[in-house]
Amino acid sequence: MAIASRKPAELATGAAFEYAPAPEASDHVKIASRYDLFIGGKSVRPHSKHRFATVNPATEEVLSEVAEADEVDVDRAVTAAASAFGSWAALPPARRARYLFRISRLMQERARELAVIETMDGGKPIKESRDVDVPLAAAHFFYYAGWADKLEWAFPNRRALPLGVAGQVIPWNFPLLMLAWKIAPALAAGNTVVLKPAETTPLTAMLFADICVQAELPPGVVNIVTGAGGTGALVTGHPNVRKVAFTGSTEVGKLIQRQVAGTGKRLTLELGGKAANIVFDDAPLDQAVEGIVNGIYFNQGHVCCAGSRLLVQESIMGPLLEKLKLRLATLRLGDPLDKNTDIGAINSRQQLQKIEGLVASGVAEGAEIYQPECRLPDRGYWFRPTLFTGVAQSHRIAREEIFGPVLAVLTFRTPDEAVEKANNTPYGLSAGVWTDKGSRILWMAERMRAGVVWANTYNRFDPSSPFGGYKESGFGREGGLQGLLPYVELS
Ligand code: NDP
Repeated sequence: MAIASRKPAELATGAAFEYAPAPEASDHVKIASRYDLFIGGKSVRPHSKHRFATVNPATEEVLSEVAEADEVDVDRAVTAAASAFGSWAALPPARRARYLFRISRLMQERARELAVIETMDGGKPIKESRDVDVPLAAAHFFYYAGWADKLEWAFPNRRALPLGVAGQVIPWNFPLLMLAWKIAPALAAGNTVVLKPAETTPLTAMLFADICVQAELPPGVVNIVTGAGGTGALVTGHPNVRKVAFTGSTEVGKLIQRQVAGTGKRLTLELGGKAANIVFDDAPLDQAVEGIVNGIYFNQGHVCCAGSRLLVQESIMGPLLEKLKLRLATLRLGDPLDKNTDIGAINSRQQLQKIEGLVASGVAEGAEIYQPECRLPDRGYWFRPTLFTGVAQSHRIAREEIFGPVLAVLTFRTPDEAVEKANNTPYGLSAGVWTDKGSRILWMAERMRAGVVWANTYNRFDPSSPFGGYKESGFGREGGLQGLLPYVELS
């Protein structure tokens, strides 16, 4: 094979391969110059009269102007959801299922359009939005459509009643997928929703509004209010919202927890992470390297469950690091719409500055930085895939969520030490274990204080599999049967 015969230096400089551009066409996609709010099944001009721009982070071009919802707008959306609730909840469950199947089907039909817009608005490589985000989002609707008329089997001997209006606030790293994680179980259980997408990535939610119209979903069952954090706080704080679901930073999660305390609202929080990806000396190293790369460089590291701390058994540190550095040198950074791109644009200037600040702290605190040679485009927000060695557990890069393509490498000698170090974090969302021994996988999984533990793989998702955290990573589960629980009252 050509790759095996190339010298490492050739691979490292990229001289061995040239990729011809392979851009995904975007001329089939229509992005409106402005978007209103989606309330009661219609496009509604914002009472606030304010709008904000959403920008392509790979080019810094303005894609569209989006409405910024104020208190009156949010109240209209919650009122629309509340008045749709009675008849939606009373529909025969199989009819509700039919709407969800229809939405799933339409998402599949419009998959290319959704993927291109997701990539343009958020900066993620098209191969990820096309092969991961959009198919998984459609699969979520498909999966929960299946539960809608089987709630009595989901919760045997209990009656599962919907709660009312769900207020849902989502982040910018997986905009459409997080929308699906929130809306699909809520609707399946008979609730109605008001959803606020993130300020930097509202466009696929607006396209989803169009899909709701196309699916002839009854007006008011889904309402979408765009805006910044203030709009989010209006949604989560509205007195007629019965259930709050939030994915985002731990800092904002804590604010919301305080806001809803004592109101009787149900709350689920899916917050930050600082996951350990643990490689034992008997692991298949080439596979592990792929898992490490997927764990931290997928979606530019904008992943709450990213394997941002690599724990390597000391005896294999040398060979593993050598392989990892070679692999990093082959990652292609650039135009997110190019089908060959591995690393796209950083989602926003603000996030880029945060990454730069934390990386600078790593250097200042004495860790050793490695970045492969690669040219950054002239415009847009970019950050090279980065790894740090010589990292101490006290370093900020080992403790704080960077949410960027930055890996902190630490070592361990014994399984007990690996457990100790992996759990030495305020977070507890995910972990990865790489070893040849099945018994060790089980031993480790039992001891990890993490909601998800992947074994000899990483960042695998399935709608039937619950996802969520411990400690400062939040509480409640999304996905699977467990994902229905926060949306029902059991009697
Ligand atoms: P936020 O937690 O601020 O954003 C998540 C969502 O909450 C957005 O829709 C945001 O709106 C909204 N929001 C902000 N403030 C409030 C509030 N007081 N009440 C209700 N909703 C609110 O994350 P950021 O986008 O600011 O990112 C900051 C850091 O958070 C990142 O660097 C990363 O480390 C971490 N993060 C973690 C995520 C995860 O899944 N674990 C996801 C996103 C970020 P708006 O978009 O307008 O700010």
